[in-house]
Amino acid sequence: MTTTVEARTPNATTSTMTQAYAYAFDPTPEQANLLRSHIGGSRFCYNTLLGLVKDNWDENRAKRDAGDEVTKNDYLSTSHFDLLYLWAEKRDELAPWWSENGASTYNDATQRLSRAFANWRRGTAKFPTFKAKGRGGSVRFTNTAVRLTDSHHVRISRIGEVKTYESMRKLYRHLERGTGRIVAATISERGSKWTVSFTVDVQRATVPTRAPEKVVGVDVGLTTLYTGATASGEHVLDVANPHHLGRAEKKLARAQRVASLRQGPRQGVAPSKRWKKANYRVRRVHAGVVNSRRNLIHETTTMLAKRYDVIVVEDLNVAGMMKNHSLAKHISDAAWGEFVRQLEYKTKWYGSTLVKAGRFYASSKTCSQCGTVKAKLSLDERVFHCEACGLAIGRDVNAAINLARQGLAGTHSVTGRGGEVRPGRQNIAGQAHPDEASTDTPALVGA
Ligand SMILES: [Zn+2]
Repeated sequence: MTTTVEARTPNATTSTMTQAYAYAFDPTPEQANLLRSHIGGSRFCYNTLLGLVKDNWDENRAKRDAGDEVTKNDYLSTSHFDLLYLWAEKRDELAPWWSENGASTYNDATQRLSRAFANWRRGTAKFPTFKAKGRGGSVRFTNTAVRLTDSHHVRISRIGEVKTYESMRKLYRHLERGTGRIVAATISERGSKWTVSFTVDVQRATVPTRAPEKVVGVDVGLTTLYTGATASGEHVLDVANPHHLGRAEKKLARAQRVASLRQGPRQGVAPSKRWKKANYRVRRVHAGVVNSRRNLIHETTTMLAKRYDVIVVEDLNVAGMMKNHSLAKHISDAAWGEFVRQLEYKTKWYGSTLVKAGRFYASSKTCSQCGTVKAKLSLDERVFHCEACGLAIGRDVNAAINLARQGLAGTHSVTGRGGEVRPGRQNIAGQAHPDEASTDTPALVGA
């Protein structure tokens, strides 16, 4: 694509956004053991302090029931600082091995527990429960304990230099240029997969919002993933549902099958070299599937946010649709929610506007030529036939045109349809993964 809208305009200012960058992590067995020790230490600290607080509350209750006076000072505080202090007081006695793990471990555990209590008091979570032992879990390292040595290696104090499966190029560049600062890194183990997720403060140029000249409506579907059209009926974007993802998934299944045939680790038996090799392959293929899905969404949203002034999408109730199990897999592949989420912050980066058409606006059932609304339109009707005016048009294109018109109505706000359309430029600090390789451009029709 050759059209680029320069993000840095003369009167641009910068703002800081917190973003998350997540990568598949490849620790050596020794490093994995050290990480598990940190995760276990964090869990032990969390459970121990939770136990102490519960005991303390039980004691106070018993005292009160016995008619003794209980004052506020009898209660253990659950502030982060006080929990950390309590841990420092008890650790030698309860966890003599504590110094084997870095200080981040216990800082993380006390912070999590403090937050769990705060959420419970606020009524947004249940009372904190003990964390179960077993494989998996996560630990958060503060900024002083982590540093990128290059685009493929993270140095963590006490753990050493750990490789990532994928390139951290985008993040590394931000750090080198001084436009990004790592706040913390969370390392987690799920199944046999490790992930490192960085919380990063990123400086970005904020751009004044452009005048709404170019408006595009985007319909998100299953057969055609993204269909875009203008209010005048031009079909400008057509991104097919990526079948290469299906192929990659087959590749993944094959790699998993091979891995299952190899001699894995058992009690007293080390895993075979071929098992390690097969499992390395599974993780690489898996990272590849996740990446190509992510890249497709990133490419499309970046292109839309740069090229158009106003982008109109349907405010889809993704959560509600996920309950339909037959569709669930396809929907998660198509990542509808992710598409809108990315548009939310990218329109901010590039100075365009996102408009969400109300959930009850019938963009699919309305004829884009005469405005007649159909009573029923089943999902397998791929062509929209209008009985009133005779229009025959692709279902997705028809919906996209209608959405684009909603955008015009919404941004000019002359038609008084404010109830149906609301601009989507809320302040969303996107947890973006901006590893957007924008080399491949989504297929453009007639643009
Ligand atoms: Zn019609």
